[in-house]
Amino acid sequence: MYRIAVAGTGYVGLVAGVCFAEMGHQVTCVDIDQNKVELMKSGISPIYEADLQDLMIKNYESGRLNYTTDYHATYKDADAIFIGVGTPEQPDGSANLSYIATVARQIAESVEKDCLVVVKSTVPVGTNDKVEQFIQDFLINDVRVEVASNPEFLAQGSAVHDTLHAERVIIGTESKWAEELLQNIYKPFNLPIVSVNRRSAEMIKYASNDFLALKISYMNDIANLCELVGADIQDVAKGMSFDERIGSKFLSAGIGFGGSCFPKDTKALDYLAKQNGYELKTVQAAIDVNKEQKTMLYKKASRRLITFNGLKVAILGLTFKPGTDDLREAASLENIPLLLEQGADIYAFDPVGAANFAKVHPEGRHRKGSISYVSNVQEAIKDANVCFIFTEWGEVKEVKPSMYKELMRTPLVYDGRNIYSTDEMEQAQVEYHSIGRKTVERQNMKEPNERELQSIRS
Ligand code: NAD
Repeated sequence: MYRIAVAGTGYVGLVAGVCFAEMGHQVTCVDIDQNKVELMKSGISPIYEADLQDLMIKNYESGRLNYTTDYHATYKDADAIFIGVGTPEQPDGSANLSYIATVARQIAESVEKDCLVVVKSTVPVGTNDKVEQFIQDFLINDVRVEVASNPEFLAQGSAVHDTLHAERVIIGTESKWAEELLQNIYKPFNLPIVSVNRRSAEMIKYASNDFLALKISYMNDIANLCELVGADIQDVAKGMSFDERIGSKFLSAGIGFGGSCFPKDTKALDYLAKQNGYELKTVQAAIDVNKEQKTMLYKKASRRLITFNGLKVAILGLTFKPGTDDLREAASLENIPLLLEQGADIYAFDPVGAANFAKVHPEGRHRKGSISYVSNVQEAIKDANVCFIFTEWGEVKEVKPSMYKELMRTPLVYDGRNIYSTDEMEQAQVEYHSIGRKTVERQNMKEPNERELQSIRS
């Protein structure tokens, strides 16, 4: 059992802290946000992640997990301090390392015994070296402090599962002492550990994320071409997925990648390459394709409709993906302001993300349009002129095609997640625009016969 401190209680820090406690370590999570700390102490998770709250309560009650804003008291006698604070994008695309620097300084001014500082946040190659130097520069007591890299690979929406059952744990160290300490901390997890040097560990994180971003952008690019040449991206992806060299994951075309990682990590690696006099053309292409893709459906709908002014627009899904309340870089954030600017009256449904979205776009009038948050899909699509699907929540996927026909004023659906088959939408007489597949036009629709009507109703 080790005494572990975790700096930052976001998706990475809190989940790591809770899972370390679950594995028997003595953990204290530090955050600068007093409200968050109070909330966590009362057993409420500040973020939405499956199983997280239950494990927080269990481990807090057992005394293995605590929360505080008092970094000094926590860092001074920790065996290891994991840093999980944000590294957001700066206007030039580089990673903002100021939160990391603040924690490094707080550590330097607090530690009273030898300890390992472990950077879990995603940081540009070479940052761990700088953090170690920074800590040495500000160190008050005569103790050994080393820095190790331990990048995080969890996906939001399945963060606890991904941590407890990680496919691999990457540890980047520069000494046997640091390597063995990290290996021992992770021993109870019983997971494959890949041990490399610090710079390689930092690069593994970016190279992995950017590879996935590239895969998504590639499929979106192919999807756009499929539309032009009459192929179906879902059939194409299925055919590709049997090739083990390609794999079956991350082949779904859609309205682009969002979230707190892929957008900023592609830009940060591109920036790092440029800084080193290198042009990372593949990653640049992934960034460019994604930018276009985000507003693809809006552009399609703008060509189809004379105006959005005064139209009731249903939005299904606000978060960047299902299973999370995180809105960072979500397609909704790009498209909704465009629709409001055009005078649309938006009725948005999201099972967990609406409260966060309302902080950015409060309910009521905005520019020329307005926005209302509703508690179910039916309310959103009732009498709507057009519907956009941005997130494939279960509540959205279970809506039958016939419901759009029955409830909407005009059954016109733009689906950024390819939830429905084009055949079923055609059968239900819904005009349906999706990604990389044929458009179900209204004039193509035949009146359903009695048998088809029966099956639509059921
Ligand atoms: P987040 O923004 O959700 O959380 C960061 C937390 O750090 C906040 O609660 C903030 O109050 C706290 N904080 C800021 N300064 C602090 C300080 N001095 N001391 C203590 N706490 C402080 O961030 P996140 O999404 O968890 O991401 C953290 C890092 O992990 C980023 O580098 C990110 O790229 C990386 N990462 C994120 C994910 C993900 O899915 N979110 C996955 C892998 C890696």
